Amino acid sequence: MVETLGEAYTDGWKISARCGWGRRDGLKSVRECLWKYELDMMTLVATRGRDFPLAMLSTRLRCPRCGSRRVMLAFTPPDKRNAGAIAARGSFLA
Ligand SMILES: [Zn+2]
Repeated sequence: MVETLGEAYTDGWKISARCGWGRRDGLKSVRECLWKYELDMMTLVATRGRDFPLAMLSTRLRCPRCGSRRVMLAFTPPDKRNAGAIAARGSFLA
């Protein structure tokens, strides 16, 4: 089970981020933000450290386009044999 940035980096995982700022119900109608980006693992490890838990990552990210703190992450394993484990955890962590 990969739980930290260091483990994910070593194993060759990919992490994609997308903005979680969907359509809002509110006084103002806000356009949905479609920002999406594949994060650079090496930069993440360099800035957060190898022991940083993957589960905490989304709480430290903000959308560069709209500033939303609701950034969703998708973790892609290095090979498809692990796909079942990912599905069990949910491919997106809020
Ligand atoms: Zn956004």
